[in-house]
Amino acid sequence: MSKLISLVLALMMLLFSVSAFAEGAVFTPGTYEAEGKGFGGAVKVSVTVSETEITDVTVTGDAETPALGGVAIQTLPGEIVKAQTPNVDILSGATVTSTAIIAAATEALEKAGADIAYLDANKRVAAEDGAKEEKTLETEIVIVGAGGAGMAAAIMAHQAGKQFIILEKMPYVGGNTTKATGGMNAAETHYQKEQNIQDSVELFISDTMTGGHNLNDPELVRTMAEQSAGAIEWLDSIGADLPKISFSGGASTNRIHAPADGSAVGNYLVDKFSEKLTELGVEVMLNTKATELIMEDGKIAGVKAEGKDANYTIKAKAVILATGGFGANLDMIAGFRPDLQGTVTTNAPGATGDGIVMAQAVGAALVDIEQIQLHPTVEQTTSMLITESVRGDGAILVNQSGHRFTNELLTRDAVSAAELAQEGQYAYIIFDQHLRDNLKAIEKYVKNGLTVQADTIEELARKLDIYPYFLAMTLNDWNEAVATQNDAAFGRTTGMDNNLTTPPYYAIQIAPGIHHTMGGVKINTSAQVINTNGDVIPGLFAAGEVTGGVHGGNRLGGNAVADIVIFGRIAAESAIEYCK
Ligand code: ADP
Repeated sequence: MSKLISLVLALMMLLFSVSAFAEGAVFTPGTYEAEGKGFGGAVKVSVTVSETEITDVTVTGDAETPALGGVAIQTLPGEIVKAQTPNVDILSGATVTSTAIIAAATEALEKAGADIAYLDANKRVAAEDGAKEEKTLETEIVIVGAGGAGMAAAIMAHQAGKQFIILEKMPYVGGNTTKATGGMNAAETHYQKEQNIQDSVELFISDTMTGGHNLNDPELVRTMAEQSAGAIEWLDSIGADLPKISFSGGASTNRIHAPADGSAVGNYLVDKFSEKLTELGVEVMLNTKATELIMEDGKIAGVKAEGKDANYTIKAKAVILATGGFGANLDMIAGFRPDLQGTVTTNAPGATGDGIVMAQAVGAALVDIEQIQLHPTVEQTTSMLITESVRGDGAILVNQSGHRFTNELLTRDAVSAAELAQEGQYAYIIFDQHLRDNLKAIEKYVKNGLTVQADTIEELARKLDIYPYFLAMTLNDWNEAVATQNDAAFGRTTGMDNNLTTPPYYAIQIAPGIHHTMGGVKINTSAQVINTNGDVIPGLFAAGEVTGGVHGGNRLGGNAVADIVIFGRIAAESAIEYCK
C-alpha cells in the first residue's frame, strides 16, 4: 500500500514538473542558488528565472574583498543577465572570483532545468558596431601602473583592507623596476648592524644630496632616508629580504642592499611582489591603460581607462599614479632634452610618461623634468644594462687603448661623461672569474653573449683589438692599487676589495644609455601631488619614477628601488588615510 502511495506521489511530481516546464520554456521559473569557490571562501549566486529569461542574478561573497574580486561581484551578474548565459567574459584581473561566479551561476541555472549548451548557442551579444563596451566600475583607490611602486602600494592597500583596483597597460607587470640591477639603498638597517657596517640616516641624506648636485627636494630625501630601514624590514616581512650589502657609486659606505645570491634586485622584487599579490588574491588588471584622471568639484573622482574589450570609467576616491618615467618615450626625451636625441634607452616599453601627461592635465606641477640620467654601462646592441655592482665588486673600465680613464665609481653622470670623452665614445668593463663567481647577475650577460672571454689578459686584449702590453700594464697597475689600497691614478677608494687575477678574464663593450628620468610630478612627503599653485590636488597621489624631486640632478644607484618601495608605501598610506 505504501509503495502505491509513493508511486502516485512520484507520478504527480513528474506531471507537475512537466507542466511547470511548459512548451517553449527554457527554465522552470523560480529562484535558484549555488556556490562557487572564491578567494575569500564561498561565493553565493542566486539566479531568478522566468520560463524564458534570466531575470536577475545576485552574488554575495562577503569575504571576496581583494581588489577586483569585489568588482567582479558588481559587474558579472549584469553581464549574465545581458548575455542570457552564465558563460560571460572573465573580468581581467579577477579570474578566480569570475570563475567562481560563472560556475555557481551555471549550477543554479542547471537546477532551473536549463540546457547550458542551448543558452550558449543563443548567447545575446552586444550589437557589433565596432564600438567597445563602456563599463563603469567603482572602488576606493585606483593604482595606475604595476611596477615596483604600484605593486608595493597594492600590497599595502590590501594589508589595510582597502578596496582597490590596480591597472597595468602592458600584458605583464614589472615595468622599469625589472631593469633595476643593483639593489636598494637603506641606512641604519638591521643587516648593516649585523654586518658591522657604520652608516647613518644623515650620511645617506648627504650622499644623496651631494650625488644629486643638491637639486633634490631635501624633505623628500629626508623622508626616504628616515624610512629606509623600516622599508627593508617591511620587505623582510613579505619575504623579499635584501641581506647582501655592498658598495654603490656615490655612497660613503656599503649601503646598497641586494638579494642574498647577488641576483638583480628588480626581477627579484617584481617576482616577490607579484607572488605576494597572488597569495593575497589581488589580481592586476593587465592590458588596461589609464588615459585620463576624472576630477569632480576640484577633487579626484577616478580614472578613465582603455582595456582590450572595453573602456572603463573607474570611480574612486583616490588615485595613485605609479606609471613610471618617460625613458622609453624618445619624443618626450628629445622634447625636454634635444641633446639626447638618438641615445639608446635601457627602459621598459611602458615607460612613456603617461602619468606625467595625465597629472599635468589636472594641474600638477612638474619638477626637474629635464634631468635625465644616463647609465654609464649599457651594452649598446641589446640596451642591456651592466649592473653597477660589477664595478662595485671590483671591475674597471678601459678605453680602446687599454687604459683606465676615470674613477669607475664616481656618480653615473660623471662616469658617463668620461666615457663620452673617449675615442669612439665607448669603453670596456673588465673583470675576472672570481668576480663572476660572486655576482649572479653576470650569468645573464654571459648567456646573452655580451662577454668576451680569454684565459689571459693578453689574449683578452687581442680579442678586443687592444694592444696587449697596455691592457696587461693597466691590470698590473690596478692590482697593485688594490694591494696597497691606493689608486694614485684616479683616486678610487671603493670597490677595491678584490683584485683581478683569477682567469678567465672577461670584457663587455659598453657606453652610456638613457636610464632614468629623474624629474616628474611634484609631490610632498606624503606623496600627495602638488599643483602649479603649490596646493595639494585632493585625492591624487604619486610614487616612483613618475615623480620628481627625490633624485635631483643625478640619481645614485640603489636610490630608485628605495624611492619606489618607500614612496609606494607612503602613497598607499596617504590614500588609505584620505579615504577614511
Ligand atoms: P616605478 O619604478 O616607479 O614603479 P615602473 O616603470 O617600474 O615604475 O612601473 C610603471 C608601470 O606603469 C609599468 O609597468 C608601466 O607599463 C605602467 N604604466 C605606464 N603607464 C600606464 C598607464 N597609462 N596605465 C596603466 N599602466 C601604465
